[in-house]
Amino acid sequence: MNPVSYQRASSIDQAIQMAAGGRGRLLGGGTNLVDLMRKGVERPSSLVDVTTLSDAIEETSEGGLLIGAAARNSAVAAHLQIRSRYPMLARSILAGASAQIRNMATVGGNLMQRTRCLYFQDVAGARCNRRAPGSGCDAAGGFNRYHAIIGASPACIATHPSDMCVALAALDARIQVAGTRGARTIPIVDFHRLPGERPDLETEIEPGELIVAVEIPPPRFARSTYRKVRDRASYAFALVSVAAGLTVRAGRIEEIGIAFGGVAPKPWRAFKAETALRGGPATSQAFEAALADELADATPLPGNAFKIELAQRTLSAVLTELSGSDR
Ligand SMILES: Cc1cc2nc3c(=O)[nH]c(=O)nc-3n(C[C@H](O)[C@H](O)[C@H](O)COP(=O)(O)OP(=O)(O)OC[C@H]3O[C@@H](n4cnc5c(N)ncnc54)[C@H](O)[C@@H]3O)c2cc1C
Repeated sequence: MNPVSYQRASSIDQAIQMAAGGRGRLLGGGTNLVDLMRKGVERPSSLVDVTTLSDAIEETSEGGLLIGAAARNSAVAAHLQIRSRYPMLARSILAGASAQIRNMATVGGNLMQRTRCLYFQDVAGARCNRRAPGSGCDAAGGFNRYHAIIGASPACIATHPSDMCVALAALDARIQVAGTRGARTIPIVDFHRLPGERPDLETEIEPGELIVAVEIPPPRFARSTYRKVRDRASYAFALVSVAAGLTVRAGRIEEIGIAFGGVAPKPWRAFKAETALRGGPATSQAFEAALADELADATPLPGNAFKIELAQRTLSAVLTELSGSDR
């Protein structure tokens, strides 16, 4: 067992200072990090507890919301403004994990949670470029039912596991970070990285930086929702999930936002499909054609080729529901 020191930060500056250098890790609710420490995937020498930082959920002057990184997932999902103005976000969080885990898990930790790829977690028996750069990827020729069909690389086909981040991607959230070189804001669509040749570099966060808050712009959809398809009805990660928002006027799509979970190494914002649909008719034929275009570059494997049709059917069902054309 590795000795680990524990410190609790009482301010952002103190957290930055405590985490600087060495093999320190920030500790949110610990629901992912502590699991990975038990498995030997993560071996920090020190933990800096950041659950003492802001967990406030406040309205911004532009009419959006600012959510402190230490806000618990359950508090975000239960917040009245989030439930009424951003239903896809509340639903995405409630589709994940269990009530007990959501009570512990923080927004910062959720954004930074690591892949559930079995080979990534198997320190003793599997090769994984994400965990041990240059070692290889056993998932490619192994059990890849849960893996990516788009955005992956020969080095890594792992998916990003978060439900919450899929909704944040469709909502154009922005991640506020602070570090030794100052503060900056990163659009969520740029926050998680595609693996390329460096799957070990998972986000744009640099050493010495931490997530401080998440900004959500004012709502831009008349209706929004989140749907998750999984092997079990609860307590399972997504095979495919869709976060979608839609405004339809006189049968034509005025505004649309779509993001997928379970199909890519990061929450997959379907920009191509959105562009194809915006201004056009809200029909199932249009939904299907737009997604075919979005997934034209997909490279499924024998174990996960079913996800293409599953993504098509899930998106079509969600947009049909939101457009009211199922009534
Ligand atoms: C059994 C089980 C089932 C689950 N099912 C789902 C599911 O269906 N859907 C889903 O989306 N999730 C699921 N999860 C994952 C869960 O959502 C995450 O474990 C949780 O969101 C992580 O939050 P945390 O605060 O506990 O993070 P921690 O475990 O504390 O930290 C995770 C990572 O984030 C970093 N970190 C923490 N705070 C910050 C910060 N402020 N700035 C920068 N880095 C930070 C840590 O250093 C660490 O690398 C499941 C987890 C378990 C254990």
